[in-house]
Amino acid sequence: MEDVIIIGTGCAGYTAAIYTARANLNPLMLSGTQPGGQLTTTTEVENFPGHPDGIMGPELMMKMQAQAEKFGARIAWANVEGVTRRDDGSFLVSTGAESYEAKTIIVATGAAPRHLGLPNEKSLIGHGLTSCATCDGAFYRNVPVCVIGGGDSACEEAGFLTRFASTVYLIHRRDTLRASKIMVERTLANPKIVPVWNSTASEYLTDEKGEVRAVTLTNLLDGTTRELAVSCVFVAIGHVPNSGFLDGLVDKDENGYILQQPGRTATKTPGLFAAGDVADHFYRQAITAAGQGCAAALEAERYLSEHAS
Ligand code: NAP
Repeated sequence: MEDVIIIGTGCAGYTAAIYTARANLNPLMLSGTQPGGQLTTTTEVENFPGHPDGIMGPELMMKMQAQAEKFGARIAWANVEGVTRRDDGSFLVSTGAESYEAKTIIVATGAAPRHLGLPNEKSLIGHGLTSCATCDGAFYRNVPVCVIGGGDSACEEAGFLTRFASTVYLIHRRDTLRASKIMVERTLANPKIVPVWNSTASEYLTDEKGEVRAVTLTNLLDGTTRELAVSCVFVAIGHVPNSGFLDGLVDKDENGYILQQPGRTATKTPGLFAAGDVADHFYRQAITAAGQGCAAALEAERYLSEHAS
């Protein structure tokens, strides 16, 4: 029986691991399908305190892992399929191949990129459709590409892609960007970024090799369509929290984000805590996720001392 199992190995998970390990709770981490979380798909992180010259996302995550392991956190490279709570209040965590028992659970499973839901979308991932400019942008040099979305992510991706692409079309369903003021100014001032307002991609068109060659654009004001030639589509329309495996144990909002008790990381199930992007649709920053990981660790520690058997 583990004292604490931490599900997820992003900023929230590793911070929870550092704190619970230093509290002698010998945490077991279950990595999930994307060890290191979303920062492993970014390049330079400039806003994580303590790194005045910036740090590469993957390097930051490797350092967090090393720090957690230094204090004794153990990591199993497995994906959790389900969690159940037993009558005695303990938890059974199943990864399909294995199951684990724990007195407390910290859910830090983050969120995954949202897609438009077009028919051939899934099969095109990696064939001209992606959600990660920093991963795939360099493959598309001197060709037109597009970014879909109007938030900070879309603007950030578009700006990054101008290093490689000939033109970056920014396709947004409205005529004002949701992104922060500084990002909007930077984006609209960039001559290589061409905004396409009030529009969405309604179809992905492929060449004979099955790679994206164009999108059908639908103007949402008048319903007209046109073809826009692009070699790659970068979808940046937000994220979906990875909370599906917890049905019944937690309450969620209409978008699937886990509801925490006000000002806490506690959920409706005693002993089960949630931290980071799986519960936070508002801030969604590495540092806020790390802060919640710390809070969840302290709450789990307190719960264990109050429920010592
Ligand atoms: P977001 O702020 O939720 O923006 C999502 C964008 O996608 C919105 O413009 C939205 O349009 C559009 N969208 C959503 N569903 C769509 C659909 N089905 N079809 C077409 N468009 C759709 O998400 P985000 O940009 O990933 O940012 C998430 C959070 O991370 C934010 O708090 C952001 O500030 C933060 N962030 C910060 C930075 C930074 O500071 N450097 C970088 C990235 C992200 P509408 O505007 O019409 O709703």
